[in-house]
Amino acid sequence: MTATKLLIDGELVEGTGEALGVLDPGTGSEIARVAEVSAEQLDAAVRTSAEAFETYSLSTPAERAALLLQIAEVIEANAEELAELESRNCGKPWPSALDDEMPLTIDTFRFMAGAARTQSGSAAGEYVRGHTSMIRKDPVGPVAAIAPWNYPLMMAAWKLAAPLAAGCTVVLKPSELTPLSTLRLGELIADVVPKSVFNVVHGAGSSVGDRLINAPEMEAISVTGSPATGMAAMAAASRQIRHVHLELGGKAPVIVFDDADLEAVTEAIRGGSYFNAGQDCAQPCRIMASDRIYERLVADTASAVSTIKTGLPKDEGVEMGPLISSDQRERVAGFVERARRGAEVAAGGGADERSGFFYAPTVIANVANDAEIATDEVFGPVVTISRFSDVEQAIGWANASRYGLASSVWTRDVGRAAAVASRLRYGFTWVNTHGVGTPEMPWAAMKGSGTGCDMSVYSLDAYSAVRHVMIAHD
Ligand code: NAD
Repeated sequence: MTATKLLIDGELVEGTGEALGVLDPGTGSEIARVAEVSAEQLDAAVRTSAEAFETYSLSTPAERAALLLQIAEVIEANAEELAELESRNCGKPWPSALDDEMPLTIDTFRFMAGAARTQSGSAAGEYVRGHTSMIRKDPVGPVAAIAPWNYPLMMAAWKLAAPLAAGCTVVLKPSELTPLSTLRLGELIADVVPKSVFNVVHGAGSSVGDRLINAPEMEAISVTGSPATGMAAMAAASRQIRHVHLELGGKAPVIVFDDADLEAVTEAIRGGSYFNAGQDCAQPCRIMASDRIYERLVADTASAVSTIKTGLPKDEGVEMGPLISSDQRERVAGFVERARRGAEVAAGGGADERSGFFYAPTVIANVANDAEIATDEVFGPVVTISRFSDVEQAIGWANASRYGLASSVWTRDVGRAAAVASRLRYGFTWVNTHGVGTPEMPWAAMKGSGTGCDMSVYSLDAYSAVRHVMIAHD
């Protein structure tokens, strides 16, 4: 049975708004219909979230940690079912859904259970004679959380675990394209989480999402999604003055120097750039190769990428699934068609005959560093390769991007790696690898990619207010 119920004020209820079809992108067929939350139901969710904040915000870090550990256990016990929903709703290869995403999702809650107990600050003391000052980090308020469709449950975990650790209540809206795993999570933890501390709603971004981020009861807005949604959140926050945490798009440069291990680069591209059909904000997608190794890197990458096996989630040996929707496939195809005019398609470059939303793993070479395909987020299985002739050029082009999420540098020269990494204006830089994440380390955004970070103890900052309490001695 597919979960279709929303979690509002501790109760599992059907939405009373319009029913939206949920598709299997592998076949294009409908797998469920889920009714949107109505305006009245949404208003009840935000109201009860604000009420629950009054008590949940007083919970101790140890109590929050216990709750997060319990959620992790529930997800672990139901990992197969959740992975099944995720894989079907997104077309993800089964091993990715079960073995890559579930452990990270579970570990996010376990890590945040520990992080809840680590808040620290300046020492209390007499900074003014006769007065004792202390720093507090208090939960910022109820959080309006908006999640995307690319890793629905893992993103729900990022949107939920950190605020719960910080003492905030959450109203979460998953993407209308991929609500199934998050709705099921709501069902599974309805009895674990104190009433109304977590509400899950469903519906379109422009209506339900908009109402949620503009609700007066919500003190913070947390979005993972496209830059357009980030801007909508900023605009909503500007009307009421709200805390905003944004994790938005990316366009990760991969800077490959002459002395790099090219086999490792090719392997990282083959594995990382097409993982999740390239629908990944940290996807290594913008390869910048030093002149001397450029030709070889194009040839090796094109030949490696043309062996990627695409198919349905449970097909034998499948490595890449379909895109999330026909709109997304059209968007990707549009980028590639426009790129053809000034560049060369070295592998892939088209949709196929299957009924689902498949697009071939694609490599585009001879790409100018300022071409649309090199600078805009495609969010699909497309990699561009361009050249650079010296280090300043590579850093300049990388930093000219409006995005600032992931980046990587490939060289055997440790000094050069450190120097380049220190100058890249990206929230994270990998050296001689790309895409390796761990909850202890921040998934950090700069420039148009957002504000603050998810994961790590630093993610608590988005949900905590720094406060000063001063006590006069007499
Ligand atoms: P999207 O912005 O279209 O949708 C994301 C969410 O925002 C959905 O739940 C949607 O319903 C909601 N939404 C849309 N318009 C809204 C509005 N006006 N008000 C409130 N909510 C609204 O993004 P997407 O297509 O689901 O996801 C892809 C994007 O997410 C890419 O740009 C990708 O790079 C980004 N992303 C970033 C990270 C990160 O950690 N930085 C992680 C995953 C995805």
